[in-house]
Amino acid sequence: MPVANYETYCKMLDRAKSGKFAYPAINVTSLTTANAVLRGFAEAKCDGLIQLSTGGAAHASGTSVKDMAMGAIAIAEHVHRVAERYPIYVALTTDHCQAKVLDTFVIPLVEATERRRAAGLPNLFNGHMFDGSALPLKDNLDIAVPLLERCAKDEIVLEIEVGVVGGEEDGVRAEGPREKLYTTPEDMVEVARRMNAIKGARYLLAATFGNVHGVYKPGAVQLRPKILKEGQEAVERAFGPDALFALVFHGGSGSSLADIREAIDYGVVKMNVDTDTQYAFTRAIADHMFKNYDGVLKVDGDVGNKKAYDPRPYMETAEIAMAVRVKQAASDLRAVGTTMFGT
Ligand SMILES: [Zn+2]
Repeated sequence: MPVANYETYCKMLDRAKSGKFAYPAINVTSLTTANAVLRGFAEAKCDGLIQLSTGGAAHASGTSVKDMAMGAIAIAEHVHRVAERYPIYVALTTDHCQAKVLDTFVIPLVEATERRRAAGLPNLFNGHMFDGSALPLKDNLDIAVPLLERCAKDEIVLEIEVGVVGGEEDGVRAEGPREKLYTTPEDMVEVARRMNAIKGARYLLAATFGNVHGVYKPGAVQLRPKILKEGQEAVERAFGPDALFALVFHGGSGSSLADIREAIDYGVVKMNVDTDTQYAFTRAIADHMFKNYDGVLKVDGDVGNKKAYDPRPYMETAEIAMAVRVKQAASDLRAVGTTMFGT
């Protein structure tokens, strides 16, 4: 199917919310990893999201260009073309974008969508994330609210974050007071008050409940999904059931299935997966290199084996291995078999 349009993407989010499942949102950095995600979704018969971080997008543009907006556009255009060959819907989004890089990442991508819309073409991206979690809540929302107004006009779903996700992403380590790892009910009520004032707009909230990026040894991470429940209950008391958030789970890699499922029960509709799929991809390549050591290298004046050092076979093996991990994510999130394709 082509990339989901706004109406389909909104329906996807509503279905996840009412059906108590969540979509895998898998980070990609290349054509091969994007293809791996599409393969995984198709095999799991689920719809889902492909997303790009600032660093992943810069990588995709090439080492001598390093233009994050350009890399994101290149991957998105690829997905728009090849997604037609897969029997599922995929939505395209971007990941963490701090205030200081809005003008070099999200805004040029919104402008690209605005140019496409003016020409009668579908949106480039279904959604973008603004991560103002390092700012005081008021400053965070002072940027998020006008951005949401613009996104709403363009039929783009905005994702915002309140509270800090720990760990490291794109080499950026989140440090700060420990309590910021847990979003408070008061903060969630304030988000609903300001963001729900934009009528007809759609947004997702990444509220933090002890999440960290990356994978840590068991016991090092203390997830408290009840934080989401308490926040949702406070929002419902203040503004009624229609105000309940569609939530995003960041730092999902390495989380226990019980924590994942509990978070879904409290309204998580999207879980970001990066570290686990990175590992699946690289593990397959490592396996190839170790097994074909004499072939991939020209050892002791030998000539190596072209079949072993041609990147295609091991990149394809890596693509398939990553697709298997994507299927696993779909299963963890109760998304298997939930595609809207053909319904
Ligand atoms: Zn994240």
